[in-house]
Amino acid sequence: MGSTMSLVLFGRQGSGKGTQCARLVEKFGLIHLSTGDILRENIRNKTELGLFVEPILSRGGLVDDATILALIEDRLEKSDIKESGFVLDGFPRTLAQSESLVKMLEPSSLDAVINLEVGIEEVTKRMELRGRSDDAAEAISQRLQLYETQTVPVIKWFDEKGLVATVDGVGSEDQVFSRIVSALSERGLEVAVS
Ligand code: AMP
Repeated sequence: MGSTMSLVLFGRQGSGKGTQCARLVEKFGLIHLSTGDILRENIRNKTELGLFVEPILSRGGLVDDATILALIEDRLEKSDIKESGFVLDGFPRTLAQSESLVKMLEPSSLDAVINLEVGIEEVTKRMELRGRSDDAAEAISQRLQLYETQTVPVIKWFDEKGLVATVDGVGSEDQVFSRIVSALSERGLEVAVS
């Protein structure tokens, strides 16, 4: 067993994926890699990339694969990632991104893909309550629709590789987190915590 983990966490927007990533970071010392966070930071800083992606994010669309892959490839090459391991959040979102990720990681590979399952009705309710600026009703439904058409096939693709652990995302933060930890240990993934 290696001393780090390479994980992907999937979940619809509003599934609590961000919170659970933070818990994984805290418990296992992983680096949280969220393409959404990186893009939003670029928007805040008005970088060239930020200006390019801002209209795409505000209408709830997907940024093109080449742009996203350049971001991720840069980040995965850094030594801190190799030492600490990572949990990917919001990436990959398309089959092309998934295939590229698997190639980027070679000769190593992902340890597990966690599918945090929360139904469409429940996440819609949660996002309306949260009221983030890009959570306007139309953007919510657009993003959920994209998740079904683009991300669900991606989860299936990883499932065919035997990598997916589906975890029920309904419950308290602690309950959901302990389900994730159990799913990881069932796969032989338990990193010693100091
Ligand atoms: P998130 O915070 O993961 O929901 O991402 C917010 C927005 O950033 C998404 O609605 C997309 O517009 C864009 N985005 C984030 N990650 C990706 C990705 N892997 N591929 C394409 N677009 C992305």
